[in-house]
Amino acid sequence: MRLLVLSDIHANLEALEACLAAAPECDVVANLGDIVGYAASPNEVIERSRSLGNIFVRGNHDRACSDSEGPIGFNPIAAAAVRWTRAALSAENLAWLHSLPTGPVHEPRLPEVGFVHGSPQDEDEYLLREYGAEQAFKHTSTRVTFYGHTHIQEAYEQRDGLVERLMPACHTSTGLSQVAQLPLEPGARYLINPGSVGQPRDRDPRAAFAVYDREANSVSFYRVRYDVKLAQERIMNAGLPAQLALRLAEGR
Ligand code: ZN
Repeated sequence: MRLLVLSDIHANLEALEACLAAAPECDVVANLGDIVGYAASPNEVIERSRSLGNIFVRGNHDRACSDSEGPIGFNPIAAAAVRWTRAALSAENLAWLHSLPTGPVHEPRLPEVGFVHGSPQDEDEYLLREYGAEQAFKHTSTRVTFYGHTHIQEAYEQRDGLVERLMPACHTSTGLSQVAQLPLEPGARYLINPGSVGQPRDRDPRAAFAVYDREANSVSFYRVRYDVKLAQERIMNAGLPAQLALRLAEGR
């Protein structure tokens, strides 16, 4: 069984379509949240995401765009994007976004896997560095936990009580589409961030996602070029903050 893991699409339709075109055929699709916020195609991205499957975790932007609390704790640019998104969403998509579950989410077909947005203990937590990963491992019992939120494509492995950060090897090159494979070791546990589809922040502007292959016992990390210019034009034409367009070209 193969699982496609998408996270932090952030209303970037061009990046999502490029990822789906580059992904191998998968049996299940999981979406780790922040489906909207930042870019200019929230309705299209929600509808495309819903057509792929039904495993969803709510992200902090999904929450801020759809509940009465709004963008509390968001920086001014992110808050402006939340207000724009809320006004742009159809009533149906707004209600659907509001109905998304908080992680951890589990899928009966994949009992060894868990899905969260931030960390297993807190959807708003940025899971960074070995210490953060150590704490997160204490709050999950699944062998593999997929998380997002940081927009950094990386993994943490826990083996014999030791936690190690693993960076996929596809970071350094600028090829059109690239894959790096992480074999899952017996007896080890993993926290895995597929990276951000719609707003990568690891200095690599290519869209990111991951594929878990249960039979092969591995996770493949992908980086895919997409039409950044078109996504930027949509952001500018929508009247969203220019910074949200500029950062896509820099991957930060
Ligand atoms: Zn995000």
